[in-house]
Amino acid sequence: MSSIFSKIVKGEIPADIVYQDDLVTAFRDINPAAPVHILVVPNKEIATADDLADEDEALAGHLLLTARRIAREQGIADRGYRLIVNCKADGGQEVPHLHLHLIGGRPLGSMVKRQA
Ligand code: 5GP
Repeated sequence: MSSIFSKIVKGEIPADIVYQDDLVTAFRDINPAAPVHILVVPNKEIATADDLADEDEALAGHLLLTARRIAREQGIADRGYRLIVNCKADGGQEVPHLHLHLIGGRPLGSMVKRQA
């Protein structure tokens, strides 16, 4: 079964796409956590970061460099931003299609709450 992000990649459901090439697609998160919240996904279906294969090394690098490029285009690179990859249940992953969150446009605070 095709993931919701695969449907966005193929244009089968609408999304605010900010970048697309042969390997990756980037689009605005439907429920943004900050002024800039963009998801960068591989066009091919890879369920989680744990499912990346050795042959995906170039693709994984391209995901990261695409996020850097978009951060610059969005004007958030100078002040900084956060890149997040949630993986599986404990990582808080909801959509089973690998995605990199690019979040910025305001101070984001510390990354995770520490337990007392
Ligand atoms: P996760 O928790 O899996 O790391 O993040 C999934 C993200 O996908 C969430 O931030 C959520 O708001 C976003 N999302 C879920 N469904 C859709 C959708 O149909 N379109 C868009 N643009 N974002 C979605």
